[in-house]
Amino acid sequence: MPDLKPESYLVSAARPEGAGAALNVPLVPCSTFLNGGERNYSREDSTPTWAALEELVGGLEGGEAVAFSSGMAAADAVLDQVPGGGRIALPRDVYPGVTGLAVQGEAKGRWTLDRFDTEDTQAWIDAAGTHDLLWIETPSNPLLMLADLRAICAAERREGCLIAVDNTFATPLNQRPLEVGADISMHSATKYIGGHSDLLAGMLVAARPDIVAGFKKTRMYHGATPGALEAWLAVRGLRTMAIRFAKAQANAQRVAEFLEAHPKVERAIFPGLVSHPCHAIAREQLDGYGAVVSFVLKGDGEKAEAVCRAARLIHHCTSLGGVESTMERRAAQSGQEAIPPSLIRLSVGIESADDLVADLEQALAGA
Ligand SMILES: *Cc1c(COP(=O)(O)O)cnc(C)c1O
Repeated sequence: MPDLKPESYLVSAARPEGAGAALNVPLVPCSTFLNGGERNYSREDSTPTWAALEELVGGLEGGEAVAFSSGMAAADAVLDQVPGGGRIALPRDVYPGVTGLAVQGEAKGRWTLDRFDTEDTQAWIDAAGTHDLLWIETPSNPLLMLADLRAICAAERREGCLIAVDNTFATPLNQRPLEVGADISMHSATKYIGGHSDLLAGMLVAARPDIVAGFKKTRMYHGATPGALEAWLAVRGLRTMAIRFAKAQANAQRVAEFLEAHPKVERAIFPGLVSHPCHAIAREQLDGYGAVVSFVLKGDGEKAEAVCRAARLIHHCTSLGGVESTMERRAAQSGQEAIPPSLIRLSVGIESADDLVADLEQALAGA
């Protein structure tokens, strides 16, 4: 349905067809299929529930999607495409699980690794000429820096060089990396796609059939398959993603402006703030500024912990992308030691913005 706007597509696409069909995608818990059809065994041939999830996400991103058991399983499948002894370019500010995976592979001699700053466009352009995989996370986690995707994807590339974009924070509603020349778009569907903090799943999207075939092979051999219930919940989550994300983004802008003006806050970090170093490129590259706001408190890490504990509406826990607002001191997570010790990453949900601001007001007053 290429003529539909994304919010209409998400509601209407990938439904069963024909008179008497169920309106909704069926939850199909199934490992094997009767002989003679197009599917034999689900780990190899997928299930109707995964197929609906893949149709929805692939349609939004303009490619073919492959669903995985988690975002990390999807990241692992991308790194699995790197030839033995290859070179991987990775941002310094990136999801720590991906860093761990890449560092572990380097320690085992599978590839070598070079790190770059997300916003250092020239470094990525140069890396395209020398590396086998550019892994780009934009906006980045948790500093929300942006890479200039259009410029990087237009660079002269070494033969076989793949450009993969972790699109989790932007979602396909704000950014479609394949449209600007990236080869791969990756999601932790655990976050905004699922949207309710009740599942783990991952997605990869690519347009080139050889890349898609490589992902399906890795999923099959690694057994990195999504659960039936998780895929079904992710489809259900996608039906409301546009309205959830619109509300969360509007709330995030309001919360970011509140935090920026607060005397106990040293720095509020949000691409929608004019003060953000990547605001200009965010305005040009993204269709919205997202719903994650980071802020650095005046004071030490203990002060930040106290604010997280004092919040009543905003839950003190890790992860992001749910309908409920959550926050945590990011340096408390392993692999995030370089993050400022009093930085709090806040995932803004769909509550009333007034209530969120009031909760932050009282939590900051107490700390
Ligand atoms: C959560 C996350 C991942 C990992 O996804 P899981 O579903 O937890 O395996 C990767 N990248 C980003 C940006 C994330 O937020």
